[in-house]
Amino acid sequence: MGDCLFCKIRDGEIPGEIVYENEHVMAFNDINPTAPTHILIIPKEHISTLNDLEDNHKQTVGEIFIAAKQIAAERGFAESGYRTVFNCNGHGQQTVFHIHLHLIGERQMTWPPG
Ligand code: 5GP
Ligand code: ZN
Repeated sequence: MGDCLFCKIRDGEIPGEIVYENEHVMAFNDINPTAPTHILIIPKEHISTLNDLEDNHKQTVGEIFIAAKQIAAERGFAESGYRTVFNCNGHGQQTVFHIHLHLIGERQMTWPPG
């Protein structure tokens, strides 16, 4: 998609600190981290919001979560725990319209979220 920030990071047009990549997904550090680890995991295919998911995205969505648990394990915080979040549209406070899973770890979270 022409003007999408995360498509530009995927394509190397905007720098990103890539921490994981496979055929389906890419993961990079959030530019404004909210925890010692704050990684965004995106599908390589542009999908604007969760509302745009189709049946043919099932594998890609699975790959996003598998990447999250692998990164948590590699970094040693799988057992202590972490948070994964997809924000959707206005009430969800989505600000970048290329879906991304926030993988947030290495600090104590609180609940409920704000
Ligand atoms: P959202 O609010 O859409 O769920 O999350 C968007 C996330 O993208 C935010 O956590 C924000 O810090 C991050 N972000 C915004 N612009 C950039 C950027 O240019 N590079 C990176 N790596 N992250 C960004
Ligand atoms: Zn995109």
